[in-house]
Amino acid sequence: MSGIDLSFAGDVRIQTVQELAWPGVALDFLLHQVPHAEFAQTRAYQDERFVDPDTRELRMSYHSTVLRTPHGNVLIDTCIGSDKHRPLIERWHQQKFPYLERLAALGLAPVDIDYVCCTHLHADHVGWNTRLENGQWVPTFPNARYLFAEPELRYWEQVRREDPAHIFSQSWDDSVLPVIEAQQAEIVSPDHEIVAGVQLQPAFGHSPGNVVIDVRYGEDHAVLSGDVMHHPVQIERPDWNSVFDQDRAQAQATREALLKRVANGRTWLIAAHFAGPTALTVTKDREHFKYHSALRTRS
Ligand SMILES: [Zn+2]
Repeated sequence: MSGIDLSFAGDVRIQTVQELAWPGVALDFLLHQVPHAEFAQTRAYQDERFVDPDTRELRMSYHSTVLRTPHGNVLIDTCIGSDKHRPLIERWHQQKFPYLERLAALGLAPVDIDYVCCTHLHADHVGWNTRLENGQWVPTFPNARYLFAEPELRYWEQVRREDPAHIFSQSWDDSVLPVIEAQQAEIVSPDHEIVAGVQLQPAFGHSPGNVVIDVRYGEDHAVLSGDVMHHPVQIERPDWNSVFDQDRAQAQATREALLKRVANGRTWLIAAHFAGPTALTVTKDREHFKYHSALRTRS
């Protein structure tokens, strides 16, 4: 199991909880109309941490990020979840993941989570919002406030009304609605500050109300970028969209703007599906962004 453990400004810790490592994702499953010949020219293609050298398939991870702050424990993105009915994607369907055990290995029980925030409401980011108990979906984290960015919540509420068979209407029903009904949901603006130093920022495009989480303590800075990028190859090629980007032009503009913001060699970029080191830093050489897996020290 891979995972990060970063310390910020002495008293904030950033850790990941991995639910699923998926090493063999076909290029066409994840990235939209990327020519194989161009993919083969990228640096990520040669990087065994991100692309399987035998099959040349992509490695993906599904993980949450936990922020342990003096003002409470914040859980960002809640993965696929156990027992969820997702017949369209086998790896998501009726699974039993040892996710809570892995959270416990970090010393955290469900009662210890104070805030839950999903960067967007796709099924693989809301799953552990709830768990099945005696045939009912109940909030997994009984003491948590679940924060939902308003444009994202309103959009999927409307999809649910108009298209009950939509795959993300299923996840609305089993992973979002039960939280609202349990009165643990809080609808917030897309630039809401969760606790001091941890703030949502609008990053629309992948989904209509998608956000990223900006974490800043002292000199230390990280951006939890959710699905603005799905694979490190998109740092080199921000013009490549994911199959799952809903508004591709807006998703690309958001990705480029985010990369510009973090391309200082010091900000950690922590994406929801990056395999391997999970946290990367970024620099820009002339026109091209480049990823690194360690901090660049100031010269
Ligand atoms: Zn995702």
